[in-house]
Amino acid sequence: MVREWKRGCQIAVNTAWGNCHTRSEVQKLAYDVLRERTDLGSQHAVLATHRAAEAIKGVLDRNDGTTENADKPTFTSPTVVYDTRTMTLFDDRAVSLTTTEERVHCDLVFPDGSYLTQYLNDDRWEAAKSNLCYRDGQFDLHLGFRAERPEIGASDEVESSENDATVLGVALGVENVAVTSTARFFSGEKLDHRHREFSELRTALHETDTRSALRTLRQAGDKNDNFARDTLHTVAGGIVEEAEKHGCSVIAFGELEAVRELLPEADEFHAWAFERLFDFVAYRAEEHGITVAQVNPEYTSQRCTSCGFTHPQNRDAERTHFECLKCGNEANDHYNAAKNVGFRCIRRGPLSSRGVGAKYCALGSGRVTPDGDFVPNEELAEVQKP
Ligand SMILES: [Zn+2]
Repeated sequence: MVREWKRGCQIAVNTAWGNCHTRSEVQKLAYDVLRERTDLGSQHAVLATHRAAEAIKGVLDRNDGTTENADKPTFTSPTVVYDTRTMTLFDDRAVSLTTTEERVHCDLVFPDGSYLTQYLNDDRWEAAKSNLCYRDGQFDLHLGFRAERPEIGASDEVESSENDATVLGVALGVENVAVTSTARFFSGEKLDHRHREFSELRTALHETDTRSALRTLRQAGDKNDNFARDTLHTVAGGIVEEAEKHGCSVIAFGELEAVRELLPEADEFHAWAFERLFDFVAYRAEEHGITVAQVNPEYTSQRCTSCGFTHPQNRDAERTHFECLKCGNEANDHYNAAKNVGFRCIRRGPLSSRGVGAKYCALGSGRVTPDGDFVPNEELAEVQKP
């Protein structure tokens, strides 16, 4: 099983290298190859394509968004990924695992005083992606657990338990492609710079309408596109990471079209980038049981989060600094907007189809209601301790 897994991951990387790196793309490209050339079952073939996608993505992240001149990942460590379709945990502390041959059923042996047993006995936690490692003639299973979320759109119980959810507000822009209500800034500078370079090249090449100019343009276009996608994937990963870190069940954005109209410096490219970013976040958030929402972004940049006073001149001419004309509250302009996006999501009430209602907006230092009731992180940590 271990040998076939390593082989499968390698074949998937070899197939996808230089072509694609998202899970769905690699799976589409390599799944049939794995089924044909390895003994992996269908679900492990899927997991191996995903493992390959992560490995390629890792290279892109470290290598400026390109696979050129980078070493292709190799799979040497004797570790196999399991998920709930290839692994079953039983109440009597046994586990059954899919292999290339028969399903293997074995008892779990916990280290003395293991903290893991508390998750096994707690209905609020469910088994998640886990790793089987082979070392010195022994198998170790690194069990993953995740907090189970209530079924979406179900009973009253769901309504009440998810009505005090925490939301992460996200403001989109050009200078910063995204800023969260927890004050994490994702610079849009590189993205914007690369795009402007490409636009200039396009203008220059359009004047020389030769075949080779068109080819150069197409190649530069692909490269620009890949760079933008990789950057946006990284930003999306950071946003979801921030939501996880602060216990958010909802990530709120402004409605994309309206956001773009409110940003005079945004063009077609930014409209495209906002849509991609939203899709990437939505895709990743789903894996973590987090809902994404879009709220009306009007006045989110002009409103004071402290006293509610809304005025265009609360912002300076460069629109980088916010200072309330009424109460004097000062903040970074984008950060102020991100908080307002979060507050608007709370004020709007439960997201009808999902049954998730946010009560708090996540800040870097804690969480706060739109009325200013603040709970610092230290107290939240107390509550969450077992
Ligand atoms: Zn104010």
